[in-house]
Amino acid sequence: MADPDALPSAPPAASGIIARYAAYLPLTPDTPRITLGEGSTPLVRAESLERLTGAASVHLKLESCNPTGSFKDRGMVLAVAKAIEDGHQAVLCASTGNTSASAAAYAARMGLKVYVLVPRGSIAQGKLAQAIAHGARILAVKGSFDDALTLAREITDRHPIALVNSVNPHRIQGQKTGAFEIVDALGDAPDLHCMPVGNAGNITAYWMGYRDYQAEERLTRPPRMFGFQAAGAAPLVSGQIVEHPETIATAIRIGKPASWAGAVAARDQSGGDIQAVSDDQILHAYRHLAREEGVFCEPASAACVAGLLQLPQRGVDLSGARIVCIITGSGLKDPDIALSAEADIVDVPVDLAAVEAALD
Ligand SMILES: *Cc1c(COP(=O)(O)O)cnc(C)c1O
Repeated sequence: MADPDALPSAPPAASGIIARYAAYLPLTPDTPRITLGEGSTPLVRAESLERLTGAASVHLKLESCNPTGSFKDRGMVLAVAKAIEDGHQAVLCASTGNTSASAAAYAARMGLKVYVLVPRGSIAQGKLAQAIAHGARILAVKGSFDDALTLAREITDRHPIALVNSVNPHRIQGQKTGAFEIVDALGDAPDLHCMPVGNAGNITAYWMGYRDYQAEERLTRPPRMFGFQAAGAAPLVSGQIVEHPETIATAIRIGKPASWAGAVAARDQSGGDIQAVSDDQILHAYRHLAREEGVFCEPASAACVAGLLQLPQRGVDLSGARIVCIITGSGLKDPDIALSAEADIVDVPVDLAAVEAALD
């Protein structure tokens, strides 16, 4: 064993998005500087996607590497810090799963009570497990995510509980730091930015982040923003609220996005687009990422790669472009999807020859 005293003692780096990007966030001296180590996520090249699209580079921003396994931590850390600053002792959210997992973790760390309203039966197992593990009070609403969010707004209007959905502006402020990290890593903005869109808080946040950096002349030109919705839950594509959204990508099964205007502004101001992808396209991209790139994400995250792959057929020229795709959440969140595939599991006895024969 190495002598622990002989190990180099690195000075503690600024950990978490509040410390790293304090100058860009609405902090006061009374905002607690809390962190679970969110942000500073990897940006990795995806060569198979470069070959398929003809792009100069495709980078995957692995937001699945955040403390609770999704990008929601970037906004939640600030929303919880602000709730504490405002004297709240409880937080509440409606959630398709990842928001509740994140709220539960930060509330547990800071000793707050946390309530989560989830659409009954349509939240992935891993996310529910997290909310349970962190001790959230979980209310399963017999309705959709949109119903749960309406209730969450009403309850927090009536009680001294902080609402930590992305309608909370601090969530958007925290999430915009993802754009800062991309520009800091690449030295400039990418040409195209691709991401999945559900409630549309994140596309609103990324656009804000790029615009903030543009105002500081930290980038030449902000990227064209491309958002992708599941075909069964694509209100921003049709321009109509979807009463009964359906898709295997539960994180984006949303029919009435709270940040509708923000998504439209990001699309129009950047010269981008918001398009739909089918569940089959999502599953194809999900398998491609896992098998060709070693990236295990949840189906909602795969929607942005499915969308990227269809852009050339939709007349978007990707040759020579620098592209970033946001991998919003971990595949471990939703193991049922991977397990439902035809798995190649071979039963073998405790016998060397049989194991050798099975290696194929
Ligand atoms: C929340 C979430 C989304 C959608 O983000 P919005 O801000 O609601 O548009 C996409 N993917 C994952 C994994 C999520 O948790």
